[in-house]
Amino acid sequence: MMKEILKKKLVAQLEYTLSKSRFYQSKFREIPADAGLSEAFKDFPFTDKQELLTDQEHHPPFGANLCVSLKDCRRIHKTSGTTNKPLLIVMTDNDIATTVEIGKKCFQSSGLKESDVVVHCLSYNMWMGGYTDHQSLEATGATVIPFGVGNTHNLIETILLIKPTAIHCTPSYLSKIELVLKNEFCLKPIDLGLKLGLFGAESGLQNEIFRKNIEKKWGMKAMNANYGMADVLSMFGAECHRQEGLHFMACDILYPEIISPGSLETVPIEEGNLGELVLTNLDREAQPLIRYRTNDIIRILSTRECECGNKGFKFEVVGRSDDMFVFKGVNVYINAIERVISDHVDAFSGHFQVFINEQPPVDLFRIHIELNDGADAGSVGEKLFQTFRSTLSISPEIIFVPNGSLPRTAGKSKKLFKTL
Ligand SMILES: [Zn+2]
Repeated sequence: MMKEILKKKLVAQLEYTLSKSRFYQSKFREIPADAGLSEAFKDFPFTDKQELLTDQEHHPPFGANLCVSLKDCRRIHKTSGTTNKPLLIVMTDNDIATTVEIGKKCFQSSGLKESDVVVHCLSYNMWMGGYTDHQSLEATGATVIPFGVGNTHNLIETILLIKPTAIHCTPSYLSKIELVLKNEFCLKPIDLGLKLGLFGAESGLQNEIFRKNIEKKWGMKAMNANYGMADVLSMFGAECHRQEGLHFMACDILYPEIISPGSLETVPIEEGNLGELVLTNLDREAQPLIRYRTNDIIRILSTRECECGNKGFKFEVVGRSDDMFVFKGVNVYINAIERVISDHVDAFSGHFQVFINEQPPVDLFRIHIELNDGADAGSVGEKLFQTFRSTLSISPEIIFVPNGSLPRTAGKSKKLFKTL
């Protein structure tokens, strides 16, 4: 049962959106009277990213969903666009304020304090993770070094000089820093003296072995601090000190639903349930979204109030529906493959790429995995193959490649490739 205050916010936002957005006016041809809006909500059609991309193509540059005049817009970002063309995201002052407020709560939940100095290593190149997350870091009272991405040698020099206590980056960037530390400074990660790692944009930390390995190697607490998406809200999921999954941090800013990936039926947000996360903005002026399919499949871990005081449900991201494919009748998630690979931290660097056919049905399924120097390809390969079979019911062709041979990126790295 929807709480009364939430219902009021939802109805107010729906009224606003339907009166201002030409995109939603043409999408919802039959709009119920005000009093029926919250009842009708569950039957509203979903919105997906492709519709928004098409809308921006037909109504360039910002689309017919722009509900304010450009003079009331303060900032323009774009989505990272690893799988599609980027979307342009526009924010008003109020949109920025709510985004930064939730971002601040996420970083605080993951342990960032006023006394911290944090080096911020996400791209400022129109990406929400750059400038807007920078503001969220500052909002905690911490001191921020606006580093951005690239030039790892200079990053290390900066860390050695200023001695920040925390770093905010993607987990895969750590291995790039480690490589440059070793080759160009003869140093180890622990020599940097970082105490807190705030990670986002990629999965990986959900694997406890992978996390413990980072914590041991770097001497810092590794936190999943930044889950979100530029098209909806930059950040709305973060762990607390218990490291038991992401808290949903935006209870009065976003209305969440989960839907079954097959039937698209709504599934209750209850412990153990799994589905694609669907979000509706409750407080958005420039480009509000109604029942937006995020493509992320999540599992609800707990709905009980946490020891940290946060009442938001806890969840984990199981995978992206566009990072999923069907191989011999089995749904294969790239995240699940990643978890198995990161169980073998001694043998593998953690970098891998998956190749499948461009057109289904998939009969080519090959994984290129970086093997650490000195690891025994024969025995570890057999063990890995058996783990894939027993835990994921898959039998991919495994090809080992030398450590350092797959591309390192500071942003999100693409792992699934479709070949002819
Ligand atoms: Zn908690």
